[in-house]
Amino acid sequence: MKWSWKLGEIAGIGIYLHVTFLLLLGWVAVSHYLAGQSIAMMINGVVFLLALFGIVVLHELGHALTARRFGIPTRDITLLPIGGVARLERMPDDPKQELWVALAGPAVNVVLATVLFIVLRLTSGVAPLSQFNVVGGEFLSKLMWVNVSLALFNMLPAFPMDGGRVLRALLAMRLDYVRATQIAANIGQGMAFL
Ligand code: ZN
Repeated sequence: MKWSWKLGEIAGIGIYLHVTFLLLLGWVAVSHYLAGQSIAMMINGVVFLLALFGIVVLHELGHALTARRFGIPTRDITLLPIGGVARLERMPDDPKQELWVALAGPAVNVVLATVLFIVLRLTSGVAPLSQFNVVGGEFLSKLMWVNVSLALFNMLPAFPMDGGRVLRALLAMRLDYVRATQIAANIGQGMAFL
């Protein structure tokens, strides 16, 4: 993608950051600084955004690594302010494969949310009065809710959400592909209208 910087590679897949993401980073930094009138507040906001960034990369890797299992390589993963995009070489032509590839992203968020929930339950029981734990706890709770929201949001049965692909894959197991895409797109439009 144009105007992107390569941050590195994970499992041989290039991870890129689009220039517009820096605008979001700047906006978060400034708005947090103004809200709290403190550098600490600003750092808090920026660290949270970077954590969010990490979660989105893991979500996209879920899609990319599942696609790899079906022999489909991923060109790159790019982070935009609206989310991440994993560019697969091609879409799976077997609906069953498309189903697994689409489900793998939200599944990563479900796993992360579950792990964070367990960590929170364990840590808040250990030292509830420690200041560090209160701050850390809030941060982790926010991350947990972000993962819950991402899983639910992405499973909305509308394109281009993962749920739209899941729906099409399920329909395509019974109908032909064109018809399945049509029905999935119509349901998506209905959702958008609502
Ligand atoms: Zn996804």
